[in-house]
Amino acid sequence: MEPEKGGRNHIGEIMIIPIRCFSCGSLIADKYEKFLERVKKGDEPKKVLDELGLNKYCCRRMIISHVELIDEIAKFREIM
Ligand SMILES: [Zn+2]
Repeated sequence: MEPEKGGRNHIGEIMIIPIRCFSCGSLIADKYEKFLERVKKGDEPKKVLDELGLNKYCCRRMIISHVELIDEIAKFREIM
């Protein structure tokens, strides 16, 4: 299976979401893929987080900050 292009850093390593929330220890890695999938389809991130049961803001920030990090790195992919 061809690996997806997104979610990799500038040297092609896969960016891995932490398995558990740093603050409360809830499992988040399994929900992250579903989150990405649905947001790519055009669903509103807030609604997706609610429906995945990520109600605590510590867990929500884990997912949201991870997405933003990938976008930040992707900006520099061409010049590095
Ligand atoms: Zn948490």
